Amino acid sequence: MRRWAYRLLFLLLALLLMGCIAIWVVEFYPRRVAHPVQTRARGILAIEHARIYTSPTEPLTEDGTVLIRDGLIAAVGPHVEVPASATVVPCDHCVVTAGFWNAHVHFTEPKWLMAEWKHADVLNAQLADMFLSRGFTTVIDLGSNPADTLSIRRRVESGELAGPFIYTAGTALYPPHGAPFYLRETMPAWMVALLPQPATTDAAQGVVRRNLSSGADLTKLFTGSWVARGHVLPMPLDIAKAAVTTTHMNGKLVFAHPSNLAGVRVAIDSGVDVLAHAADDTNGVDQALLSTAISHNMAMIPTLKMFTTTVTKDPHYMDPICAEVNQFHQLGGQLIFGTDVGYMEDYSTEGEFVELGRSGLNWKDVLAMLTTNPAARMGVSDSKGTVSAGKLADLTVLDADPADGLTNFSKVRAVVRSGRVVWQR
Ligand SMILES: [Zn+2]
Repeated sequence: MRRWAYRLLFLLLALLLMGCIAIWVVEFYPRRVAHPVQTRARGILAIEHARIYTSPTEPLTEDGTVLIRDGLIAAVGPHVEVPASATVVPCDHCVVTAGFWNAHVHFTEPKWLMAEWKHADVLNAQLADMFLSRGFTTVIDLGSNPADTLSIRRRVESGELAGPFIYTAGTALYPPHGAPFYLRETMPAWMVALLPQPATTDAAQGVVRRNLSSGADLTKLFTGSWVARGHVLPMPLDIAKAAVTTTHMNGKLVFAHPSNLAGVRVAIDSGVDVLAHAADDTNGVDQALLSTAISHNMAMIPTLKMFTTTVTKDPHYMDPICAEVNQFHQLGGQLIFGTDVGYMEDYSTEGEFVELGRSGLNWKDVLAMLTTNPAARMGVSDSKGTVSAGKLADLTVLDADPADGLTNFSKVRAVVRSGRVVWQR
């Protein structure tokens, strides 16, 4: 062979090697810890002279103390002795509840890209802005690049970052040729082609298996995908069933993006556990359908503010969606708080509380959505969801009483996670 041919071959091999190293560094190295061990803070913390809502159903403790020892709630009530060695969290008539959950978030904004290689100060500011300053101690990521989510989760649990506990769905599953138009408009075509859009039941099972084995805690399906403005493509029922069955066999839950009547039907018929949004096309979404969903033990995350900010500014657009949420609640359905931040770039939670109020929910209903309902749904009621002795010290400290107005849930003063003050205003 001629000398130039050897040189070309060498160059190609070098490029191939560099490409492989780059893919490993960007995509695989950040995923190396699928399920990090959670740790608790050491030491004693106390919050004194607080109004404590231990749960949505227990009576208020007017002037109480929460004592935290080694990351767990040691005692709560009006007469709790605080050891001299305790670190006192400033309160001054604050209101204490269990740590809030946001059950619908994403790490898909460009600022999370290559999270593995970002400075801790940068990520800490972003985690505080998006989650901690809003009171969230636990969040559920419903579809992001696992390289970013798993890296953030590992760094949070190692104590390097201050952030909420993160559950993740890994990558979401779409109907065949069913990527939503809003992703196709914002992502390069090659990236859209990489989104899992399984065309067979075997392929759907494969995606779920790979997701769960590489760190996902649940499955997210687009049972109805807005493939164009005004057009929803439902996921074929056999594909949805295959994904749900495989997930349930592994003891995990399935969340679904329904969009419309057809999407809710596929979710019900395939055995989905949680609707990740209210159906925004409410045509045909009636009492009978919602009753069926509830009889299948399905929960709902309304994400109302997202509709008001990303779909339309028409105030009447929300009327039927709020009515749907109200009806779901009246029929006894379990509602869970979630905002779809990450997709929605405005992180303030105030608007969601306003819309939940418009849907006829009172502050106890909303406190349950933020605490006890998600903990129960995710099977962790024994460690999270209420301010009770023996549970993990995940607490949200508010400046104002939500009983005086739902938007007071957005007035966060401090956040304690696993016994550590992770954020203070
Ligand atoms: Zn979402």
